[in-house]
Amino acid sequence: MTKKRSYCIAGNWKMNTTPSSATTLVSGISHGIENLNLSRVRVAVFPPFININTVLEHAGGHIAVGAQNCYYEPNGAFTGEVSCGMIDDAGCTYVLIGHSERRTIFKESNTVIELKLKAALQTSLTPILCIGETLSERQSGNTWSVLQEQLNTAFQTITPEQSARLVIAYEPVWAIGTGVAATKDEAQEAHHFIRKHLSVLGKETSIPILYGGSVTADNARDLLSQPDIDGALIGGASLKHESFVSIIRTAALLSEN
Ligand code: PEP
Repeated sequence: MTKKRSYCIAGNWKMNTTPSSATTLVSGISHGIENLNLSRVRVAVFPPFININTVLEHAGGHIAVGAQNCYYEPNGAFTGEVSCGMIDDAGCTYVLIGHSERRTIFKESNTVIELKLKAALQTSLTPILCIGETLSERQSGNTWSVLQEQLNTAFQTITPEQSARLVIAYEPVWAIGTGVAATKDEAQEAHHFIRKHLSVLGKETSIPILYGGSVTADNARDLLSQPDIDGALIGGASLKHESFVSIIRTAALLSEN
Protein backbone atom coordinates (compact mmCIF):
# COMPACT_ATOMS: atom_id res chain seq x y z
CA MET A 1 0.00 0.00 0.00
CA THR A 2 1.40 3.45 -0.90
CA LYS A 3 1.76 6.04 1.85
CA LYS A 4 -0.88 8.77 1.87
CA ARG A 5 0.30 12.24 0.83
CA SER A 6 0.57 15.23 3.18
CA TYR A 7 0.46 18.81 1.94
CA CYS A 8 1.26 22.32 3.11
CA ILE A 9 -0.75 25.14 1.52
CA ALA A 10 0.64 28.58 2.30
CA GLY A 11 -0.68 32.01 1.34
CA ASN A 12 1.79 34.88 0.95
CA TRP A 13 -0.25 38.06 1.21
CA LYS A 14 2.77 40.27 0.42
CA MET A 15 2.11 44.00 1.04
CA ASN A 16 -1.64 43.55 0.85
CA THR A 17 -4.43 43.84 3.45
CA THR A 18 -5.13 46.32 6.23
CA PRO A 19 -5.88 45.11 9.76
CA SER A 20 -9.60 45.09 8.98
CA SER A 21 -9.40 43.44 5.54
CA ALA A 22 -6.90 40.89 6.93
CA THR A 23 -9.47 39.97 9.60
CA THR A 24 -12.15 39.52 6.95
CA LEU A 25 -9.85 37.43 4.73
CA VAL A 26 -8.64 35.04 7.44
CA SER A 27 -12.17 34.68 8.83
CA GLY A 28 -13.40 33.77 5.33
CA ILE A 29 -10.67 31.15 4.94
CA SER A 30 -11.31 29.75 8.40
CA HIS A 31 -15.04 29.45 7.68
CA GLY A 32 -14.41 27.97 4.22
CA ILE A 33 -12.21 25.13 5.47
CA GLU A 34 -14.16 24.17 8.57
CA ASN A 35 -15.76 21.07 7.04
CA LEU A 36 -12.69 19.80 5.16
CA ASN A 37 -10.64 16.81 6.26
CA LEU A 38 -7.35 18.54 6.97
CA SER A 39 -5.71 15.74 8.93
CA ARG A 40 -2.87 15.67 6.35
CA VAL A 41 -2.99 19.30 5.17
CA ARG A 42 -1.17 22.15 6.89
CA VAL A 43 -2.54 25.61 6.11
CA ALA A 44 -0.58 28.81 6.74
CA VAL A 45 -0.99 32.47 5.89
CA PHE A 46 1.68 35.18 5.79
CA PRO A 47 0.17 38.61 6.41
CA PRO A 48 2.15 41.86 6.66
CA PHE A 49 3.76 42.26 10.12
CA ILE A 50 1.22 44.84 11.23
CA ASN A 51 -1.65 42.38 10.70
CA ILE A 52 -0.12 39.33 12.37
CA ASN A 53 -1.87 39.85 15.73
CA THR A 54 -5.33 40.27 14.35
CA VAL A 55 -4.86 37.33 11.96
CA LEU A 56 -3.71 35.13 14.86
CA GLU A 57 -6.82 36.15 16.79
CA HIS A 58 -9.19 35.23 13.97
CA ALA A 59 -7.35 32.27 12.39
CA GLY A 60 -9.25 29.50 14.18
CA GLY A 61 -7.68 26.16 15.00
CA HIS A 62 -6.40 25.07 11.61
CA ILE A 63 -4.58 28.07 10.17
CA ALA A 64 -0.98 28.72 11.19
CA VAL A 65 0.46 32.20 10.77
CA GLY A 66 3.90 33.20 9.53
CA ALA A 67 5.98 36.29 8.81
CA GLN A 68 7.11 37.24 5.30
CA ASN A 69 10.61 38.24 6.37
CA CYS A 70 12.90 38.53 9.40
CA TYR A 71 16.24 40.00 10.42
CA TYR A 72 19.09 37.81 11.59
CA GLU A 73 20.14 39.81 14.67
CA PRO A 74 18.15 39.10 17.85
CA ASN A 75 17.63 42.77 18.83
CA GLY A 76 19.36 46.16 18.87
CA ALA A 77 19.79 49.26 16.74
CA PHE A 78 18.30 47.95 13.46
CA THR A 79 15.50 50.41 12.81
CA GLY A 80 12.59 48.91 10.96
CA GLU A 81 13.67 45.29 11.34
CA VAL A 82 11.94 42.42 13.18
CA SER A 83 13.84 39.48 14.69
CA CYS A 84 12.97 35.78 14.58
CA GLY A 85 12.58 35.74 18.37
CA MET A 86 9.96 38.49 18.16
CA ILE A 87 8.08 36.64 15.41
CA ASP A 88 8.20 33.42 17.40
CA ASP A 89 7.04 35.05 20.63
CA ALA A 90 4.18 36.79 18.78
CA GLY A 91 2.73 33.32 18.12
CA CYS A 92 3.86 32.68 14.55
CA THR A 93 4.79 29.19 13.36
CA TYR A 94 6.59 29.99 10.10
CA VAL A 95 8.85 32.57 8.51
CA LEU A 96 9.52 33.03 4.78
CA ILE A 97 13.19 33.45 3.96
CA GLY A 98 14.66 34.53 0.64
CA HIS A 99 11.47 35.24 -1.29
CA SER A 100 12.44 36.38 -4.78
CA GLU A 101 11.03 39.86 -4.11
CA ARG A 102 13.42 40.14 -1.14
CA ARG A 103 16.28 38.90 -3.31
CA THR A 104 15.63 41.22 -6.26
CA ILE A 105 13.99 44.39 -4.87
CA PHE A 106 15.81 44.42 -1.52
CA LYS A 107 19.07 42.92 -2.85
CA GLU A 108 19.26 40.08 -0.32
CA SER A 109 22.22 37.86 -1.13
CA ASN A 110 22.52 34.11 -0.58
CA THR A 111 24.80 34.96 2.35
CA VAL A 112 22.22 37.17 4.08
CA ILE A 113 19.63 34.48 3.48
CA GLU A 114 21.88 31.91 5.15
CA LEU A 115 22.20 34.18 8.22
CA LYS A 116 18.42 34.55 8.38
CA LEU A 117 17.95 30.81 8.09
CA LYS A 118 20.37 30.19 10.95
CA ALA A 119 18.63 32.83 13.08
CA ALA A 120 15.22 31.27 12.45
CA LEU A 121 16.55 27.85 13.45
CA GLN A 122 17.58 29.28 16.84
CA THR A 123 13.85 29.73 17.55
CA SER A 124 10.94 27.34 17.25
CA LEU A 125 9.90 28.84 13.88
CA THR A 126 9.79 26.68 10.76
CA PRO A 127 11.66 28.55 8.01
CA ILE A 128 10.37 28.29 4.44
CA LEU A 129 13.42 28.84 2.26
CA CYS A 130 12.45 30.22 -1.17
CA ILE A 131 14.68 29.47 -4.15
CA GLY A 132 14.23 29.75 -7.89
CA GLU A 133 15.75 30.89 -11.16
CA THR A 134 14.92 33.96 -13.26
CA LEU A 135 13.71 33.70 -16.84
CA SER A 136 17.11 34.63 -18.28
CA GLU A 137 18.83 32.06 -16.05
CA ARG A 138 16.42 29.39 -17.31
CA GLN A 139 16.75 30.47 -20.93
CA SER A 140 20.53 30.39 -20.73
CA GLY A 141 20.43 26.83 -19.35
CA ASN A 142 21.55 27.79 -15.84
CA THR A 143 18.53 26.67 -13.82
CA TRP A 144 20.32 23.79 -12.08
CA SER A 145 23.46 25.75 -11.26
CA VAL A 146 21.39 28.63 -9.80
CA LEU A 147 19.39 26.25 -7.62
CA GLN A 148 22.57 24.46 -6.55
CA GLU A 149 24.25 27.72 -5.55
CA GLN A 150 21.19 28.88 -3.60
CA LEU A 151 21.02 25.55 -1.76
CA ASN A 152 24.79 25.27 -1.19
CA THR A 153 25.02 28.68 0.48
CA ALA A 154 21.80 28.39 2.48
CA PHE A 155 22.72 24.95 3.84
CA GLN A 156 26.46 25.37 4.35
CA THR A 157 26.34 25.47 8.15
CA ILE A 158 22.95 23.80 8.67
CA THR A 159 23.24 20.37 10.28
CA PRO A 160 21.29 17.42 8.86
CA GLU A 161 19.09 17.53 12.01
CA GLN A 162 18.35 21.23 11.50
CA SER A 163 17.63 20.64 7.82
CA ALA A 164 14.81 18.30 8.86
CA ARG A 165 13.01 21.32 10.39
CA LEU A 166 12.94 23.23 7.13
CA VAL A 167 10.51 23.65 4.27
CA ILE A 168 11.70 24.65 0.79
CA ALA A 169 9.61 26.59 -1.72
CA TYR A 170 10.69 26.27 -5.34
CA GLU A 171 9.48 29.48 -6.94
CA PRO A 172 10.71 30.10 -10.49
CA VAL A 173 10.88 33.90 -10.62
CA TRP A 174 9.36 33.97 -14.12
CA ALA A 175 6.21 32.31 -12.76
CA ILE A 176 5.63 34.60 -9.76
CA GLY A 177 2.71 36.95 -10.31
CA THR A 178 2.86 36.48 -14.08
CA GLY A 179 -0.07 34.13 -14.62
CA VAL A 180 2.37 31.71 -16.29
CA ALA A 181 2.88 28.79 -13.91
CA ALA A 182 5.54 26.16 -14.53
CA THR A 183 4.02 23.11 -16.16
CA LYS A 184 3.58 20.13 -13.88
CA ASP A 185 6.53 18.44 -15.60
CA GLU A 186 8.82 21.49 -15.25
CA ALA A 187 7.90 21.83 -11.59
CA GLN A 188 8.31 18.10 -10.87
CA GLU A 189 11.71 18.07 -12.59
CA ALA A 190 12.94 20.99 -10.46
CA HIS A 191 11.58 19.49 -7.22
CA HIS A 192 13.23 16.18 -8.00
CA PHE A 193 16.51 17.98 -8.70
CA ILE A 194 16.28 19.84 -5.37
CA ARG A 195 15.68 16.60 -3.47
CA LYS A 196 18.62 14.94 -5.20
CA HIS A 197 20.86 17.91 -4.40
CA LEU A 198 19.83 17.82 -0.72
CA SER A 199 21.04 14.24 -0.69
CA VAL A 200 24.35 15.28 -2.29
CA LEU A 201 24.71 17.86 0.51
CA GLY A 202 23.99 15.18 3.13
CA LYS A 203 20.80 16.95 4.27
CA GLU A 204 17.32 15.68 4.97
CA THR A 205 15.70 14.72 1.65
CA SER A 206 12.16 14.10 2.85
CA ILE A 207 11.44 17.71 3.80
CA PRO A 208 8.39 19.33 2.19
CA ILE A 209 9.12 21.12 -1.09
CA LEU A 210 6.35 23.54 -2.06
CA TYR A 211 5.83 24.91 -5.56
CA GLY A 212 5.12 28.64 -5.96
CA GLY A 213 4.38 30.71 -9.05
CA SER A 214 0.89 31.48 -10.39
CA VAL A 215 -0.81 28.60 -8.60
CA THR A 216 -4.58 28.88 -9.04
CA ALA A 217 -7.67 26.86 -8.24
CA ASP A 218 -7.48 25.58 -11.85
CA ASN A 219 -3.89 24.29 -11.97
CA ALA A 220 -3.53 23.18 -8.33
CA ARG A 221 -4.61 19.58 -8.90
CA ASP A 222 -2.10 18.96 -11.70
CA LEU A 223 0.77 20.45 -9.69
CA LEU A 224 -0.08 18.87 -6.34
CA SER A 225 -0.45 15.43 -7.94
CA GLN A 226 3.27 15.35 -8.78
CA PRO A 227 5.29 13.00 -6.58
CA ASP A 228 7.83 15.59 -5.39
CA ILE A 229 5.41 18.50 -4.92
CA ASP A 230 4.32 18.64 -1.28
CA GLY A 231 2.28 21.79 -1.34
CA ALA A 232 2.08 25.31 -2.69
CA LEU A 233 3.15 28.83 -1.78
CA ILE A 234 0.48 31.06 -3.24
CA GLY A 235 0.47 34.83 -3.77
CA GLY A 236 -2.39 36.28 -5.82
CA ALA A 237 -4.82 33.40 -5.37
CA SER A 238 -4.42 33.55 -1.57
CA LEU A 239 -5.92 37.05 -1.42
CA LYS A 240 -9.44 35.82 -2.17
CA HIS A 241 -10.80 33.34 0.32
CA GLU A 242 -12.76 31.47 -2.37
CA SER A 243 -9.69 30.62 -4.50
CA PHE A 244 -7.45 29.85 -1.52
CA VAL A 245 -10.09 27.57 0.02
CA SER A 246 -10.55 25.84 -3.33
CA ILE A 247 -6.80 25.03 -3.47
CA ILE A 248 -6.90 23.77 0.12
CA ARG A 249 -9.90 21.58 -0.80
CA THR A 250 -7.92 20.10 -3.71
CA ALA A 251 -5.05 19.26 -1.34
CA ALA A 252 -7.47 17.74 1.17
CA LEU A 253 -8.99 15.49 -1.52
CA LEU A 254 -5.58 14.41 -2.85
CA SER A 255 -4.44 13.64 0.69
CA GLU A 256 -7.29 11.15 1.06
CA ASN A 257 -6.27 9.06 -1.97
C1 PEP B 1 4.51 34.31 -4.23
O1 PEP B 1 4.32 35.45 -3.88
O2 PEP B 1 5.28 33.61 -3.57
C2 PEP B 1 3.81 33.79 -5.41
C3 PEP B 1 4.07 32.58 -5.80
O3 PEP B 1 2.93 34.64 -6.03
P1 PEP B 1 1.83 34.24 -7.16
O4 PEP B 1 1.08 33.04 -6.65
O5 PEP B 1 0.95 35.44 -7.28
O6 PEP B 1 2.57 33.92 -8.41
